[in-house]
Amino acid sequence: MKKNVLFVVLMLALVLVGCAEHEHVWNEGEISKDASCTEVGEMTYTCETCKATRTEVIPAMGHSYEFEVTTPATCIEDGVETEICSRCSAKGKTRSIVAAHKYDSNGECTVCHAKKDDVDKAEARIGTKYFDTLTGAIKSLKDAESKTAEIVVLKNSVKLENFSTITGSNDNSAYDITFVGNGKEKTTIDISTDLTMPPYEGNHINYIEGANLAFKDMTVVIGDGSNYQGFARAGSLEFDGCAIVGMGAHWGNGDVIFKGCEFKDNGNYSLWLYTGKNYVFENCSFISSVGKFLHPYTERPLSLTITVKNCSFENTNEAAESGKPALNIKTKVVCNVSFEGSIEFKNVATGAQGSKYFQLESNNGSIIKINGVQIYPEV
Ligand SMILES: [Zn+2]
Ligand SMILES: [Zn+2]
Ligand SMILES: [Zn+2]
Repeated sequence: MKKNVLFVVLMLALVLVGCAEHEHVWNEGEISKDASCTEVGEMTYTCETCKATRTEVIPAMGHSYEFEVTTPATCIEDGVETEICSRCSAKGKTRSIVAAHKYDSNGECTVCHAKKDDVDKAEARIGTKYFDTLTGAIKSLKDAESKTAEIVVLKNSVKLENFSTITGSNDNSAYDITFVGNGKEKTTIDISTDLTMPPYEGNHINYIEGANLAFKDMTVVIGDGSNYQGFARAGSLEFDGCAIVGMGAHWGNGDVIFKGCEFKDNGNYSLWLYTGKNYVFENCSFISSVGKFLHPYTERPLSLTITVKNCSFENTNEAAESGKPALNIKTKVVCNVSFEGSIEFKNVATGAQGSKYFQLESNNGSIIKINGVQIYPEV
């Protein structure tokens, strides 16, 4: 009996000593928490001898992305492919699918029936209709029920001809056309030949005559920087993401809106506000080698509202004193002006009233506000 007790005690002691000192023999481990695309998991190992456990981190897997078509391309509109994770459906990067016709062996698109020859030589298109010239595209609206259209400019360099000559009418107010380019570096539209006119007192007829025109993502060549050029007698004008070359003076009789536009140096004012009603300049940059920018000027009385929001004015001529402030208002134009947001001046002259924002020839009733606070006339 005593012998047995001794044996048990001995074994117990051995086990205890062994456990304290043995090398763990880890099993293959078990996943105690699954890793996901974005979260780490956990692996638990158990000692086969003493059942002690230890854990290791399982790294997050990261997404398993593959591109899938999320918006198919059509004949004329680019589509979109999006990276989608096969595990968790998270979305990653996108890339565009270039629009393309699907030509058959005769060179005709099996989807929209456009002919390859027509597409290749086209200067413009409206929807899936192709036109050899921009003039042809505008002319096609003459008998259309709606004269609201987006005309996509397909060639790098096109001319916009005398609108009234194209439409054969002296009332084009039903026309509402947006010309869409392929970026201001790639597409240039030239209006300088047929649309500019002599001074207001000159020949009035046969220019744009009330049409509402918008220009998107292109360079617009108005002229060579001479006086009295521009969009004579437009109904309204809008420019979005455009570069403006030349000094426009004629801006029609209504709204004149510039968004994200760049007024290039033309050796003169960036523009004359010679006609129009309501001007908006938003996120625009003005660059001038003579330090002259916005110039409300006419030979007759005119009232304008002008909003300048988040714009920059840069005089590239180091002699700032030789230039003018951002807005140089001549006597006959009464302006209701709001400067809003961030207005930046680089080397811009200070005007007669001590401001880089404006100067007036005389107190003609104009009101100037900066972020809602009237700065002229002083209150
Ligand atoms: Zn152990
Ligand atoms: Zn995922
Ligand atoms: Zn097609």
